[in-house]
Amino acid sequence: MTTLVLVINSGSSSIKYQLVDVESGNPQASGIVERIGAQDGRVTHKGPDGKHSVELPVPDHEIGMQIVLSQFAEHGPVLDAAHLTAIGHRVVQGGSLFDGPALVDDDVLAKIKSLSPLAPLHNPAHLQGILAAKHAFGAVPHVVVFDTAFHQTLPPAAYTYALEKEIAKAHSVRRYGAHGTSHLYVSRAAAEFLGKDVTELNTIVLHLGNGASATAVRGGRSVETSMGLTPLEGLVMGTRSGDLDPAVLVHLSRTAGYSIDQLDSILNRRSGMLGLCGHTDMRDVNEAADAGDEDALLALEVYYHRIRGYVGNYYAQLGHVDVIAFTAGIGENDDRTRAGALRGLAELGIEVDPERNAGSKSEPTVISPDGARVTVLVVPTNEELEIARQAATLVGA
Ligand code: ADP
Repeated sequence: MTTLVLVINSGSSSIKYQLVDVESGNPQASGIVERIGAQDGRVTHKGPDGKHSVELPVPDHEIGMQIVLSQFAEHGPVLDAAHLTAIGHRVVQGGSLFDGPALVDDDVLAKIKSLSPLAPLHNPAHLQGILAAKHAFGAVPHVVVFDTAFHQTLPPAAYTYALEKEIAKAHSVRRYGAHGTSHLYVSRAAAEFLGKDVTELNTIVLHLGNGASATAVRGGRSVETSMGLTPLEGLVMGTRSGDLDPAVLVHLSRTAGYSIDQLDSILNRRSGMLGLCGHTDMRDVNEAADAGDEDALLALEVYYHRIRGYVGNYYAQLGHVDVIAFTAGIGENDDRTRAGALRGLAELGIEVDPERNAGSKSEPTVISPDGARVTVLVVPTNEELEIARQAATLVGA
């Protein structure tokens, strides 16, 4: 008997889904409903007989979810309550209310809604997706898995901003972190790959995708992470600035008259690699740098410099580091970033072997030389499998 979980990631204009076999870890099907709310919606379903794409208007999430059902009915595999163990929903913001997965009921839905001010683009969209999925799959248990949950073990010294405490409390301002499902999966997969118990290892996970974050994991528990109240803080990202002096906002508002919405857009959508050199995709940045583009060369150095700073910071916070694990689109594929980010750290026992590092990695791979004090790994992330596992465990499968 297989344990099948349908994992759903519902955004404001899209529903991504993957049917995961928890035992084998293999996806049985996956797909995306895009441009929900627009006239030119599109559905792409990958099933046992290949990839199918159709264009059709998808007015809302309810209809989007019906379309997902019809894709399974038409192209397979069979998807009904008798086959499905659970539905696992990704939710970005669980605030301080969730430190693990939860079975969806009215109370949980109300809590997710109450956290919307902390994730105005995400939590309302997740709620729409969960409600639509509950209508479509009424007989199956629904589980929510939060991006923030893994970081609920951060100690107060790590999650507290040095802000006037009454203001922070009144507005729930603290570090929540993000990418928690990936950091959890990768820190465990690294331990498993090395044949160690996760409780024996101190690991720094570098999740480098379009969004990017670093986490210090002590014995399986997140103790420090680079994203903050929102996923803007920390590393340089595709379009997000990451860390900067908060007074930059005050300065730009006072001297250039930018509004709050303009500043939000500058920091989240027009900064990072895009802002520095005009490219968001690391492949394009590398290509431009190879062609001698000065902006791209500087952007790469800024990107590496920031990561190296976090590695040093987390080394000091952990006191001892066993493993550094790279993951996500850039971490798994870009050898230049991996080498650049850890350059010059040999005194800390951190080295990258150029031959081992070369190329993309689709399996856990050691990229440090034999005998290095810190084992540097590439570990492909699998957030869908982690969500599916947590959902199956919660419903007792
Ligand atoms: P998301 O945060 O959207 O989930 P991913 O983890 O899928 O992002 O990472 C996507 C990014 O990975 C791309 O924008 C690109 O910068 C980078 N990437 C993917 N493949 C490569 C590659 N071969 N070399 C360098 N960068 C790559």
